[in-house]
Amino acid sequence: MRQKMGNYTALLRARELLKNRGLDAALAARPANIRYISGFAGTESYLYLSAERAAILTDSRYTLQAQKEGKDCQVRTIGKGSGYGELLEKLLSEDGVRTLGFEEDALLYGTVAELQEKSGLPAGQWKPLEGALSALRAVKSAEEIRKLEEAERIGDAAFSYILEELRPGVTELQIAAKLEYFMKSHGAEGTSFDTIAASGLHSAMPHAVPTDKPLEKGDFVTMDFGCRYQGYCSDMTRTVVIGKADARQREIYQVVLEAQETALASLRPGMTGAEGDWLARAVIEEAGYGEYFGHGLGHSVGLEIHEKPALSTREKTVLAPGMIETVEPGIYIPDFGGVRIEDMVVLTEDGVRNLTASPKELIEL
Ligand code: ZN
Ligand code: ZN
Repeated sequence: MRQKMGNYTALLRARELLKNRGLDAALAARPANIRYISGFAGTESYLYLSAERAAILTDSRYTLQAQKEGKDCQVRTIGKGSGYGELLEKLLSEDGVRTLGFEEDALLYGTVAELQEKSGLPAGQWKPLEGALSALRAVKSAEEIRKLEEAERIGDAAFSYILEELRPGVTELQIAAKLEYFMKSHGAEGTSFDTIAASGLHSAMPHAVPTDKPLEKGDFVTMDFGCRYQGYCSDMTRTVVIGKADARQREIYQVVLEAQETALASLRPGMTGAEGDWLARAVIEEAGYGEYFGHGLGHSVGLEIHEKPALSTREKTVLAPGMIETVEPGIYIPDFGGVRIEDMVVLTEDGVRNLTASPKELIEL
């Protein structure tokens, strides 16, 4: 069941943003931003926003849904001879718009060129929003945090369940399918990204795609998965060993775990994303595995699985209470295997609260 999510506050904040950027109107294209501002959860649509109105531009597949979910929004549907460019042209002239913000990070070049031509608003009057609408979603409300927490709780339950299913002979694809079936049958609307189940040498690839490889004794098995609950995503990773871990596996696992726990203990508002990243990276570098930790420490999560700000070496954004971050250090050694441990946390006034409850000591099955 869908709930009305668009809130008046989000709409007001979006309008405030238009004013601050000197824009007469904006055209949102990123589904998460459209949903956040209007409540409409459909895809392949636009939200047009000016001081005068909010209008959902969509096609007939979504008309009813947009009317139902779009709070305080007009709904305009494309039809024969009248595409998005023509709908936009009407709105722009009705509102006397001279400068229009657009989401350059969510639209194809060809789409923008066509909209510019059909709407009659010259390219020079289209202003990139530079992620400003997405930034409105960075700090989560208590209600959003509750949904993220519930999504992560379903992930935790899926992990407890899958531990009973892991044994030699079960394939990576079967593990992924079981995780997904469990989450969907326990309240999830779907997965928040393609489930990763990587065993043995495959675990050296951080984003390995599951294959028909069966688990074998001595394999690391990395499982990275998440689901969506009322639109909000979860994300967690655990790595286990089939049979007994050898000394090298044990050592790598402990380094990753120490890096993660160090970061969880020290991450707090006021730090930049880069400073947050360094908390874990320093531990891994100190242990001599720096070259095997190639990705950032984490990312924010919300209506989208990858949101800003990230915890990465390049992130200058300062973390604030109410932001969500994943904390997911890893070590990946080619021709050997890899370990990643990932929790999802919410920034509090003086640290973080972990939304993930699954155990993290090395599990040997
Ligand atoms: Zn993940
Ligand atoms: Zn993640």
